[in-house]
Amino acid sequence: MNVVVLGCGFGGVEVARTLRKEAKELDITMIDHTPQFDYPPAYPELLSGKVTPEAISHDLKKFATKLGAGFIQAEVVNIDVKAKKVKTKATAEDDARDIPYDFLVIAIGAEQTFFGIPGAEKRSYTVNTMNGAIETKNALDTLDYSKESSIAVIGAGLTGIEVAGELVDYFKDRGARARISLVEMMPRILPALPKENVAIYVRKFLSDSGVEILTETAVQEVSEGEITFKDGKKLPYNIIIWTAGIKPNRLLEILDLPKVKGWLKVDSYLRVEGMDDVFAVGDTVYFEREGVRAGQNVEEAEGQGRAAAENIIRTIKNLSFKKNALPKKYYSLYTMKGEKLKRYRPKNTIQNPKALISLGDDKAVLYFGGMVFKVFAYRLKKFVEHRYMKRF
Ligand SMILES: Cc1cc2nc3c(=O)[nH]c(=O)nc-3n(C[C@H](O)[C@H](O)[C@H](O)COP(=O)(O)OP(=O)(O)OC[C@H]3O[C@@H](n4cnc5c(N)ncnc54)[C@H](O)[C@@H]3O)c2cc1C
Repeated sequence: MNVVVLGCGFGGVEVARTLRKEAKELDITMIDHTPQFDYPPAYPELLSGKVTPEAISHDLKKFATKLGAGFIQAEVVNIDVKAKKVKTKATAEDDARDIPYDFLVIAIGAEQTFFGIPGAEKRSYTVNTMNGAIETKNALDTLDYSKESSIAVIGAGLTGIEVAGELVDYFKDRGARARISLVEMMPRILPALPKENVAIYVRKFLSDSGVEILTETAVQEVSEGEITFKDGKKLPYNIIIWTAGIKPNRLLEILDLPKVKGWLKVDSYLRVEGMDDVFAVGDTVYFEREGVRAGQNVEEAEGQGRAAAENIIRTIKNLSFKKNALPKKYYSLYTMKGEKLKRYRPKNTIQNPKALISLGDDKAVLYFGGMVFKVFAYRLKKFVEHRYMKRF
């Protein structure tokens, strides 16, 4: 019985770990198009140099070997759910392959969107991937520090805030001058956090650090050296760092599976709706239960990963009721009684989100239960990061 875990970010890694913990005899195959696990919450700190790429990434093949799982580095370009196979893209070293599965977990995350704004994708840097963050840092390093630089950060969500804070530290460390503009189309920063208390605190913190905050300011077009906003105002720039908005992974576009606004639709057990052998977790899914929608964050990706793995084990156990359906190797999973699958309950939701946001200058803020906590928040963020990376 082979479980294929497609995508080895927070969700996929947790699926594989839980499967192995619960069922030693399962064959697990992990697939990712990158050779290493990277830790996205620390990408903004790559800009200021507080962390190095090596400190926040780990070799996936080594991790899989430690787990007793297989690892295939390949980009998956299609899934045939009838034939139960995922198809990989040919590379210079490898032919295209069909990888069979008994159970599949889709954990392919999300991608940056530029909302089709003319010039935005072509002229912006990003921090939503490790390579993107490294390229952004390289671009900062090539600026002429004898002049004032203009850096525009587009989007004042969690990532935009963190990037602005790290830019302050970057220029302070080099004794260089910069106009750092944080641009947000909504009336306030951090629009996804329901209470304004956190936005008020963060706005003051960043303004006091010299960041220019432009709310109700929507980008209309990006041309060489200049951003034009919808109200007709213009902002000259040396570097744009785009942090606004995510969209579903491009693979989902070609898959004929149930979706909501492009995201994979899953049932309460994290199975892709209408299927009992394909599960999905993390940023790639749309999960809603009793009017509460899961957020797209680490806590959710991991929680869903654990729950999906447990439900796969329960499904395998339940197969033992079908005569000869369970190969001999899996008899240890046999139960006398069928086991109900577990309904997943999201914890870090759109309605009641939690967030730990770094602000630069070794400060951070924790938003939890609608309240704002400042003391030890940065230490907590670094503790969470170190504890996570230690598992590899
Ligand atoms: C800069 C930044 C900062 C963030 N900060 C925080 C934070 O502080 N707290 C928080 O909770 N969340 C944060 N997030 C969000 C968090 O990183 C995501 O919610 C989380 O990574 C989702 O996990 P996932 O497993 O669903 O997807 P991912 O972690 O994105 O993993 C998806 C994996 O799938 C692989 N993949 C994709 N397509 C294919 C394919 N076709 N073939 C093979 N492999 C494929 C990718 O290479 C990747 O390894 C941040 C995100 C970013 C970008």
